[in-house]
Amino acid sequence: MTTITTPSTAELRELAKKSLEACGATIPEGTGITARSPITGESLFELGETPDVAAAIDRAHEAFLQWRSVPAPVRGFVVKRLGELIAEHKQDVANLITIEVGKIGSEALGEAQEMIDICDLAVGISRQLDGRTMPSERPGHRLMETWHPLGVVAVISAFNFPAAVWSWNTALALVCGDAVIWKPSETASLTALACSALLDRALKEHGMPAGVSQVVLTDAAGASVLVDSPKVPLVSATGSERMGAQIAPRIAARFGRALLELGGNNAAIVAPSADLDLAARGIVFSAAGTAGQRCTSMRRVIAHSSLVDDLVGRLTEVYARLPIGSPTDDGTLVGPVINPAAYERMQEAIEQAVADGGELVVGGGRRDAGGDAFYVEPAIVRMPAQTDIVRRETFAPLLYVLEYDTIEQAIALQNDVPQGLSSSIFTLDQREAEQFMAAEGSDCGIVNVNIGTSGAEIGGAFGGEKTTGGGRESGSDAWRAYMRRATNTINYSHDLPLAQGVNFS
Ligand code: NAD
Repeated sequence: MTTITTPSTAELRELAKKSLEACGATIPEGTGITARSPITGESLFELGETPDVAAAIDRAHEAFLQWRSVPAPVRGFVVKRLGELIAEHKQDVANLITIEVGKIGSEALGEAQEMIDICDLAVGISRQLDGRTMPSERPGHRLMETWHPLGVVAVISAFNFPAAVWSWNTALALVCGDAVIWKPSETASLTALACSALLDRALKEHGMPAGVSQVVLTDAAGASVLVDSPKVPLVSATGSERMGAQIAPRIAARFGRALLELGGNNAAIVAPSADLDLAARGIVFSAAGTAGQRCTSMRRVIAHSSLVDDLVGRLTEVYARLPIGSPTDDGTLVGPVINPAAYERMQEAIEQAVADGGELVVGGGRRDAGGDAFYVEPAIVRMPAQTDIVRRETFAPLLYVLEYDTIEQAIALQNDVPQGLSSSIFTLDQREAEQFMAAEGSDCGIVNVNIGTSGAEIGGAFGGEKTTGGGRESGSDAWRAYMRRATNTINYSHDLPLAQGVNFS
């Protein structure tokens, strides 16, 4: 087994402390949650007492009552300042993402950049919270829509995008006039402390109420208070399908709104006309990058039977050379998986796939870094069919390869999973590409041509269908999820005609 060299936990602790302090955050004392680094697998800090989530909701509601009356473009100034502060502390935020989640430097910086991008987008939107006007059927009347803030928005986030997911929600929710309570993943508390300290600073500099933004370091039980509270009109939750299935019925039962961003099972179809070089590069980035721990990571390749051997050969060759190691090293492309359980789930999935008739082509082994750090070789398993294990999301660098003969077969395989997040096709045949993007094509929220399944841009609406939860965040008109709509009918005549010709005189 090749041994991986990592910085010591003491060095990581020091860097985390420095980065936190630079962002203006302090580490709350107590023993509620353990901050740990997957780089060494060891604990960094014991954090905070269990917060009073109900009190946080009340405080947020109080702040909301003031915040909603601040003109939207002025709310935009706060978000603009947040973006500037993140840009100033981009490296600090990236350090914390690397330390807590194990992302390589470039991806951690990319995540921080995504936060800056969403702030830019939200600032623009703060001047464009537009409603429509419609012609009235009654003379001397006008119909129009107005959009208003919702109230307190809860953001429950997953470990793998420990900062970006919060910013996607928060930047939009703030310009829309909502207050935000953030329940980060227990695995990424330090990043949350740093980001919320930056937002606190932006709010303070503009003389805005501090309660507009709060972070509660708590577990799923603490999050339940947010999920069940009628004072929280919107719960935006990112995480596993299991989590979504637990909270969605509870939010529905109190007629709250849920914005769900759950698991994916993303596939690329590689068609006979594909540029195989491009396809191989796109597949490796999406499947092995971030150690397979993106919601949009590629889990399946559906390759045409005429090229599947060639493609698998190319991928195997690249996989065998992938630099696996500490994400703090410049040359590393694949860092650790988040914890021992992630490694075990990957091993179980490989075993099951092989038991189902699959062939492990490359990878799957563990690289020793000592202790409880889990560095794994990204794996490829060729499958004879799309069995149950393939239809499940395994959150690790594990790629299944299936083959097809007709494009209809390929699309059917692509869609035949419970999840509906991201999808792609590698083809130079425009008919096929269009077919894939048409109604009878991919059933996912993200449908790409000649790029992999991961790496979305902020300008588009992000999210997926089926068990991925149906939510949309980020660009396009995703801001509407954070507001309520009122339809206004204005009578500027001297009469009172009734709609539909009703006579009540
Ligand atoms: P997870 O479901 O274990 O946890 C996510 C968050 O939900 C955490 O903050 C956790 O504390 C909280 N949580 C869990 N159970 C809860 C409950 N019953 N009530 C309230 N809160 C609860 O997910 P994870 O391991 O942190 O993240 C990986 C998963 O997230 C993957 O399935 C991945 O696909 C998904 N994800 C989806 C998107 C997307 O945009 N679709 C983005 C990132 C991650």
